[in-house]
Amino acid sequence: MSSTPLNRDLFDQVMVPNYAPASNIPVRGEGSRVWDQEGREYIDFAGGIAVTSVGHAHPQMLATLQDQGSKVWHLSNFMTNEPALKLAQQLTDATFAERVFLCSSGAEANEAAFKLARRYAFDKFGPDKHEIIAFHQGFHGRTLFTVNVGGQPKYSDGFGPKIVGITHLPYNDIAALEAAVSDKTCAIVMEPLQGEGGIIAADPAFAQKARELCDKYQALLVIDEVQTGVGRLGSLYAYQQLGITPDIMSSAKGLGNGFPVAAMLTTKAIATHMGVGTHGSTYGGNPLASAIASKVLDLINQPQVLADVNAKFERFKTGLEAINAKYPFMHEVRGRGLLIGAALNEDYLGRAGDFLSAATEVGLMVLVAGPDVVRFAPSLLIPDADIDAGLALFEQAVAKVTQT
Ligand SMILES: *Cc1c(COP(=O)(O)O)cnc(C)c1O
Repeated sequence: MSSTPLNRDLFDQVMVPNYAPASNIPVRGEGSRVWDQEGREYIDFAGGIAVTSVGHAHPQMLATLQDQGSKVWHLSNFMTNEPALKLAQQLTDATFAERVFLCSSGAEANEAAFKLARRYAFDKFGPDKHEIIAFHQGFHGRTLFTVNVGGQPKYSDGFGPKIVGITHLPYNDIAALEAAVSDKTCAIVMEPLQGEGGIIAADPAFAQKARELCDKYQALLVIDEVQTGVGRLGSLYAYQQLGITPDIMSSAKGLGNGFPVAAMLTTKAIATHMGVGTHGSTYGGNPLASAIASKVLDLINQPQVLADVNAKFERFKTGLEAINAKYPFMHEVRGRGLLIGAALNEDYLGRAGDFLSAATEVGLMVLVAGPDVVRFAPSLLIPDADIDAGLALFEQAVAKVTQT
């Protein structure tokens, strides 16, 4: 057994085939650089899908991991613990929220959010008020409830009966939203910028209309900040740029820098409806995960760090436009902060994966957001020199795809 080479072939022999990973296997990272088994270096513009918010092997993260790791990793929710209390205090101080539920993934945070929205409506208005309004191309995770609220049928088809009472509308369509919300609506669920759906930002007027309709119909506005939160769009949370206040918000991905940790945030009045015994998570709020998230927030919730994220967006945009002037491949740069999409032009529609493969070949890790958008979501602390070096590699990849 111990002599089995740990390579890509082994994946097919021992793993459920729900992923199709690349052939190279990274073994080490530092900041925004990663090295694979062969010692090949990569610049990391992927950030583990907008997760490694402070980069790989950050010295202060390592110190936190070692410090808390040597004290206590896990207890149970029959006892609370200092790191969890500190994390919840930080999250409530920095946002609209007054109460926090801790868990371990984005899907779990959303699951809690959707259950809470339904329970709140059930308790206050009865069983008829259970309808959830969500949006086409939205993504909220891979549990059964979250794929059903998500707006991509390919993720929810084929798993038996669907969860009822969920309506999907076109994103940013105010008229459709006004027509759909009713007394039966218990929640409107939206991402402030659709990440998986193609890096599509919400119009502030659309988000504000959602808020207004929720107020009018006593529904809750649930904002999924799993991808956009923790500084990713240049403010600690993206709702802060939209002129709205959510009733419930989820946060995950960047919150743990790769350690599984997530949070559902809400107000005191709404939280009352998730009383003792209504919901839970074994790992949620364990001291190790909480200490790590707390340190991530310390590092990112700083005016200068957030200002730098916005400056780095401009650096990316300028660089991508320069590449496009030489090798036309995209029709626009989308996104905000360090969640950036290069939307492919007509000639390359459907070929985002080719750009990803070509980038990997020259030593650059990027992402796609659907078939038509190349996505960049590096560490929020990525040095400008690494952005420039990565863009130079991306130019080679674009040259390769467009010249052949
Ligand atoms: C990634 C993502 C999720 C799911 O998070 P997991 O940690 O994979 O469960 C939910 N919502 C959004 C907006 C995401 O980007």
